[in-house]
Amino acid sequence: MTIDAGLPVAVIGAGPVGLAAAAHLVSRGLRPVVFERGDAVGASVRDWGHVRVFSPWRYNVDEAARALLQRAGWRAPDPDHLPTGGEIVRDYLEPLAALPDIAPNLLLGARVTAVTRQGLDKVTSGSRGERPFSVRYVDRGGEERKLSARAVIDASGTWTSPNPLGVDGLPAIGETAAAGRIAYGIPDVTGNARTDYGRKRILVVGSGHSAINVALALLELQEAEPTTQVFWALRRNRIEKLLGGGLNDQLPARGALGLAAKRAIDQGRLEMLAPFAVESVAVRGDSLAVDALLGGSPFSLEVDRIVVATGFRPDLSFLRELRIELDPAVEAPPALSPLIDPNLHSCGTVPPHGIDELAHPEPGFVIVGSKSYGRAPTFLMATGYEQVRSVVAEIAGDHKAAREVHLVLPETGVCSAGPISGTATVSASGGCCGGPAPAEVDACCVADAEAKAEGQAGCGCGDQSAAQQTGRRRAPAEVEP
Ligand SMILES: Cc1cc2nc3c(=O)[nH]c(=O)nc-3n(C[C@H](O)[C@H](O)[C@H](O)COP(=O)(O)OP(=O)(O)OC[C@H]3O[C@@H](n4cnc5c(N)ncnc54)[C@H](O)[C@@H]3O)c2cc1C
Repeated sequence: MTIDAGLPVAVIGAGPVGLAAAAHLVSRGLRPVVFERGDAVGASVRDWGHVRVFSPWRYNVDEAARALLQRAGWRAPDPDHLPTGGEIVRDYLEPLAALPDIAPNLLLGARVTAVTRQGLDKVTSGSRGERPFSVRYVDRGGEERKLSARAVIDASGTWTSPNPLGVDGLPAIGETAAAGRIAYGIPDVTGNARTDYGRKRILVVGSGHSAINVALALLELQEAEPTTQVFWALRRNRIEKLLGGGLNDQLPARGALGLAAKRAIDQGRLEMLAPFAVESVAVRGDSLAVDALLGGSPFSLEVDRIVVATGFRPDLSFLRELRIELDPAVEAPPALSPLIDPNLHSCGTVPPHGIDELAHPEPGFVIVGSKSYGRAPTFLMATGYEQVRSVVAEIAGDHKAAREVHLVLPETGVCSAGPISGTATVSASGGCCGGPAPAEVDACCVADAEAKAEGQAGCGCGDQSAAQQTGRRRAPAEVEP
């Protein structure tokens, strides 16, 4: 028995990467069926539609999608413009989804609840690779349905599974009960959520770009409504990382965010709390009483609202009947994980990667896009576009193209190496992982040189010269959203 080649390839999620997968499938004459839980494509990107991204259009459009769109008369946006999430949806994802090759293959309002192999549970080994997949979903009318597929590409992102407030990975005591006063991600504090935040005491928790975005937007609100108070808590002492690449960053908008945050801290407009570990939250009338440890000592604070911007984690619940293999810490495929593990380094100099690094023991199933990075916060759309190009080539039987990886990403000027829970090795002027390596040493940076001197393989960053020698181009530096 072999899988019917006429079956569609299931794509879970119509975000930038899921739709790019659909474009590659269509370009290779394969039929996608794209499941999207939202009522429209890009449901997660719409949630942060008010945020301007830090990579310009030139990095945000997939090449197969571009070719399909241009054939239909699409005019590409200015490659140097930094779009908002809303513009990405309006000017790219919606036109892509409306193409006659894609639109009929989109199931909107369809939430995937489980994936299995037809007639086989997870334990049963016999000829799994010869059985089609069965994708369970709930349609927009609430009906439970299933669909057979020859392969499954999970591009469902991580936006729907935000990390909680607690430093231990669990919700802080009382967090769930206080949910009505806690927002996760990047609420539009100067737009549709303004009345919840203006003239209020707000605690922002997190140290990535989402947290910087929220904190800066709150400062903007504070200018208009001066009694707004902003407390910004970092769970670990990582202010250097938070400040980003600054002037060294090839994505100037990303560096500018960090620099603006630094200015606000220096001017005392932001009260920084670090390292800050929330122990419990309790609703007290109209306020929230927060008990925490600040620098290891008990600390209490009363606020009106909390914004939790502590990153995201993959939703693995609907993959329970599949044989997937993930790094136990990062929850990314084991071959990819050491390259993006935030415990090791934040510069994320990720060598180009595709099907070989993304494959799971379950043949025909792959996780791509931001979900493929598991809990690592450094994903960029361009990385996902190269992933799906490779994955779809493999599904189409073009094994050679699947293994030719082409990816060039902008490089950030600042990153850390070594454990980041202590003081990270960061140099605002020195480039990757502590700055350039000594000239006499075969290493990409200080941390790489130190690691090699200690007999290790290196700091984990890609090596430009080695990459060129082996014909592999490196895909540098990403920073968490
Ligand atoms: C604020 C912010 C700024 C960012 N800025 C940049 C940037 O400047 N440059 C850059 O390259 N990257 C940036 N990123 C990172 C990343 O590229 C984006 O998050 C991007 O949207 C990831 O694309 P994706 O397709 O993997 O996932 P998503 O965009 O999250 O799409 C996943 C889709 O799957 C759907 N879905 C989820 N679960 C199910 C289910 N069970 N069934 C059916 N559908 C489901 C969701 O509704 C969603 O539409 C940013 C991220 C954030 C949050």
